[in-house]
Amino acid sequence: MPNRTFLKSILAQKCPNCRTGLMFESATYHLSKFDKMNSSCPVCKQDFVIEPGFYTGAMYFSYAINVGIVLVLGLGTQLIFSPNIFVLVSVVSLGVILAVPFTFRYSRLLMIYLFSGIKFDSEKIN
Ligand SMILES: [Zn+2]
Repeated sequence: MPNRTFLKSILAQKCPNCRTGLMFESATYHLSKFDKMNSSCPVCKQDFVIEPGFYTGAMYFSYAINVGIVLVLGLGTQLIFSPNIFVLVSVVSLGVILAVPFTFRYSRLLMIYLFSGIKFDSEKIN
């Protein structure tokens, strides 16, 4: 049986319904396609477009993830290297920009897992 715990399914970018099919078309590191999402699950056919504008709410998760990145990178860089403000802002900005593919995907995953009403049911798949 594949990984089907809640957290592992989110980290593996799996469908919230069957936790087997992938929500995105390609791997996160394919930068030209990181935002391409399957319209439905390739395994259980669960529709990933819950309603028009559903993923607008993912911006709140994106904001929270980015605040975490800024705090960790900013405080870590400041405490370890004590750089001038230009270097500090550059490091934090670069970190946020490099994290965009992950932030985009995980904010959508959190949105669909927490607010779509889709519940995992192991009986739905064989
Ligand atoms: Zn599925």
